[in-house]
Amino acid sequence: MITNEIISILESKIQFIERGDKAIYLVGPIELPVNLDGETVVFKWYCWLLCSEVTIDTNRIIEKLSSSNLAEMQQSSVLVYGDFEQADEALIRMHSICHTGDIFGSKRCDCGYQLKHSMKIIVEHGAGALFYLANHEGRGIGLFSKAMAYILQENGLDTVEANLQLGFKDDARNYDDAIRVLKTLRTKPVSLITNNPKKIDALKNAGLNVSERMPIWGDVSEFNQKYLKTKVERAGHLVEMAQDEQPL
Ligand SMILES: [Zn+2]
Repeated sequence: MITNEIISILESKIQFIERGDKAIYLVGPIELPVNLDGETVVFKWYCWLLCSEVTIDTNRIIEKLSSSNLAEMQQSSVLVYGDFEQADEALIRMHSICHTGDIFGSKRCDCGYQLKHSMKIIVEHGAGALFYLANHEGRGIGLFSKAMAYILQENGLDTVEANLQLGFKDDARNYDDAIRVLKTLRTKPVSLITNNPKKIDALKNAGLNVSERMPIWGDVSEFNQKYLKTKVERAGHLVEMAQDEQPL
């Protein structure tokens, strides 16, 4: 039995977002001090959950948590910085989860670098949000399939070919829920940190108000050169070098 006191504490921090016959529950903001290159930066953190049961009864949502086995599933979240709702300009990064790159610091891709670098750019800019999309592992194929794709890559296939050979679409990522969350947090236009024009198209098609694009390259090494080349040649990524960034 959940007490009224517990419900009243949580109720003010839960937002209900309609999504067809489902609902997204957005919880936050939660203060999150982060160590960014030795400096403590305070972000506002939100996490969301997509539920097939649509209810605005907070008690009902909380009651279901302990039996929902959420640790077996992935939940996405967003780190918000500055006056995200009102600032005239805000930077957005839609970051796809990368277990090997973000957590282990793998140099087979540039995800870990992009994650940290995006956070820094957002803080320098003054306002923005980093969406960490938990169902996007391996461009949406999942961690186990990504391990198989890596084996195929070690045997000469490129990133795109490997995913196709395993029966996946090259890019199976979906941004709908993240955009709904973004629209709840901010309605003004945003600038997107990405090299991927398809991502901009996908976000615009899903109704996002994108005004500009900011490129992000870096951390090029012998280990990810082929991966980055494939992004440009096969997946249509745009190469634009900032002065301090290395060529491919
Ligand atoms: Zn990666």
